[in-house]
Amino acid sequence: MAGERLLLVEDASELRHFLAETVLAGAGYDVLAAADGAEGLTLARDLLPDLIIADHQMPGLSGLDMLDALHKEGMTPPFILITAEGSEQLAVRALRLGVSDYLIKPFDPDDLLQAIERVLTEHWTRKITEQVPIQLYEANLQLEGRLHELDTLVEIGKRVTGQLDLQQVLTRVVEAAVTLTHAEEGTLLLVDHPTGELYLYASTGTDRIDQTLRLPVSDSLAGQVIQTQRPLVIMGEDLRKIKTHYFFRDLVYVPLVVKNEAIGVLGATNRESSTTTFEPHTLQFLSLLADFAAIAIENARLYAASEKERETLNTVLRDTEDAIIVTDQHNRILFCNPAACRAFDVNYPQSRGRPLAKVINHQEVTELFSKEAPSGRSRRREIELAEGARILNAQLSIVKGVGRVAVMQDITHLKELDRIKSDFVTTVSHDLRSPLTAILGYIELIRRSGPLNEVQQQFVARITSSVKSIAGLVEELLELGKIEAGFDQEREPTLLQPVIRQVVDSLRQLSEAKQQKLEVRLPENLPMVSGNPLRLRQLLNNLVENAIKYTPEKGQIRVLLHADNGFLVLRVTDNGIGIPPQDQPFIFDKFYRTNEAIDRFPGTGLGLSIVKGIVEAHNGRIWVESQVGSGSTFTVMLPSYSPDD
Ligand code: ADP
Repeated sequence: MAGERLLLVEDASELRHFLAETVLAGAGYDVLAAADGAEGLTLARDLLPDLIIADHQMPGLSGLDMLDALHKEGMTPPFILITAEGSEQLAVRALRLGVSDYLIKPFDPDDLLQAIERVLTEHWTRKITEQVPIQLYEANLQLEGRLHELDTLVEIGKRVTGQLDLQQVLTRVVEAAVTLTHAEEGTLLLVDHPTGELYLYASTGTDRIDQTLRLPVSDSLAGQVIQTQRPLVIMGEDLRKIKTHYFFRDLVYVPLVVKNEAIGVLGATNRESSTTTFEPHTLQFLSLLADFAAIAIENARLYAASEKERETLNTVLRDTEDAIIVTDQHNRILFCNPAACRAFDVNYPQSRGRPLAKVINHQEVTELFSKEAPSGRSRRREIELAEGARILNAQLSIVKGVGRVAVMQDITHLKELDRIKSDFVTTVSHDLRSPLTAILGYIELIRRSGPLNEVQQQFVARITSSVKSIAGLVEELLELGKIEAGFDQEREPTLLQPVIRQVVDSLRQLSEAKQQKLEVRLPENLPMVSGNPLRLRQLLNNLVENAIKYTPEKGQIRVLLHADNGFLVLRVTDNGIGIPPQDQPFIFDKFYRTNEAIDRFPGTGLGLSIVKGIVEAHNGRIWVESQVGSGSTFTVMLPSYSPDD
C-alpha cells in the first residue's frame, strides 16, 4: 500500500536517518522526519501525515504527549509508538490514547514495515466504513431488489422450459409482470385465429376486467400492438378508456412474437387513482416476460404436436400384426410391441432395460441380434416358432444412436403356399418329361422315315430346339424343386479345386467359340467344404455358363478361389454386359431376368435360383457386384469343412 505519507519522530539521529531514508523510503513511503516531539507536532498539524511513528522517550515532548496534544486538537491519526522499554503503565496510557501499535527497541525493520501495513489497512477500512454506510445501504437495497427481480425472471425462465401446463406458466408470467413492474394490473391477451379477435387468457391484480373480454385486432390498443409488432407505452395521461373497456392512467403493452408473427399481448396497467408510476425499465421487463410467454406457447404447441405424433406411432406399433423389438447398443430391450410380446412370451414393460438374451430364449432371435452376425445395415432371417408351426420373416436394421430394430412378419401362409407351389411344379414337371421324351423320339423317327424337303427339315429343327428348351426348363424346375425340398442332404468332405477344373474344362469350348479368355486361379492346399459334389458342380456350372453367355466375344472370365477366416471364397468375374442396380436385388428370384437378357439371350431365369438354393443348402452366402457395361462378379462363401461337422 506504499505511497502514503508517514511522519517519523525520533531524536536518535542515526536511527532516524536509517529508518527514514533506508527502511521507509525504501518501501516506497513518502517520509517526513522530525527530531523531537515539538517539531513532530508542527509537521503533523501542517502536513497531515497518514501515519505517525514516534519514539516515546524524547527530550521535551514525549511521543505520547505529542499524540495527546494532537487528540486535543481533534486529530486522530494512526500512531505507532516506539519505546526502549515497555512498562505496564506505558502500555495502559498508550491504549487509552488509542495507539495503533507499538514496538520495543531494538526491533527488526521488517516488523516495523509489517506494523505500518497493518495499521494503515485498518485505518483505511475504518475510514471507508465510516464514510459510506448510507450509500452502501441504499445500493445494497437496490441490489437486493435487482436480485429479486432476476430471481423472478430466472424462476419464470425455468418454468417456461420445464413446465408444460400453459395456463399455469402464463398466469405466473402475468403475476411476475405485475410484481416486477409494480403495476396494479396485468393482462395477457392471445389472438384467436378463427375469429381474428384478442381474448383474455390470463390476468391478475384486478377484478375489473371482464374474463370474457374480447377485443377486435383492427380497432383496439392491444390490436395495434399485434398489427405493428411494436410495444405501446402510455404514461400519466388523462383518464382514458380507449378501447380497453376500462379506465387506466399508465399502460405498457408488448407483443408476444413467435416466428415473426405476433400471437398475443402482455400488458401492465395502473388505474386512474394509482399512486405508483412505471419505472424506466418496465418496458424491458415486460418484453423479456413476453419473450418467455411466447417460448412457453411455442413449446406447448410443439409438445402437443409431438404428443399427437407419438400417440399415432404408439397406435401403429400397438395394433400392427408385425412383431417389433428394439434394443439399445448393448442389446438391452428398449421396446417390444404387443405382437412381439405374444410371439416370444415377453412381459413388457417389465423386461425393459434387460438383456434380450435373458428375456427371449430363442436361438434364432439371439443370432439375429448378435454382434458377430455378418455386418451390414440390414440383416434378414427366418425365425421358426412352435417347432415350425409359425414362421416369421425377420428384418433387423441397425439404427444409429438407438441400437437394433427387428421387424418380424408372419409368413407362415406364404411358406405354405410356396410349398404347395413347389409340390405342384415338381409334379407337373415330372409329368411333362415323359411326353417330351416321346416327342423327341417321334422327331427322330420322322427324320429316319424318309427324305424330308428343306422346309420340312427346318420345321423339324425348330420343333427339336423348342422341345429341348422346354425339356431344359422342366429339368431346371425339377432340380429346383429337389433343392428346395431339401433332398440330397448327403454331405462329404469335398475339395473344390477338382470340381472347378472339371466344370471349366467342360465349358471351355463354349467360351472359345466366343473367343473369350477363361482364366482359372486355384491355390493348392485349401481346406475342403462339407458338400454335395454334384450340386457344387451344378452351382459352378450355372455361374460360369452365365458369365460366358452374358459376356461379348473376346471378353474375359475369371474363376478365383481362396480361403478366408473359416470360409472358402469363390469368385466368378466377367467383363460382360453387367446388371443394372435396380435388378440386382431380384436376379436370384425364380424366373427373374433383366430386360436386356430377355431381349438378347436365351434363358429360363432359373439358373441363379438354383445356385442360391445350393449355396443356402450348404450354409453359405452369395452376392453380386456389378456395373452395367463393365461386368459382374458373383461371390460365393462356403464354410470350410472341419472334422467335427
Ligand atoms: P438366365 O437363364 O436368364 O440366365 P439366371 O437365373 O441364371 O437366368 O439369371 C438371371 C438373370 O440374371 C439373367 O437373366 C441375367 O439378366 C442376369 N445375369 C445372370 N448372370 C449374369 C452375368 N454374368 N452378367 C450379366 N447378367 C447376368
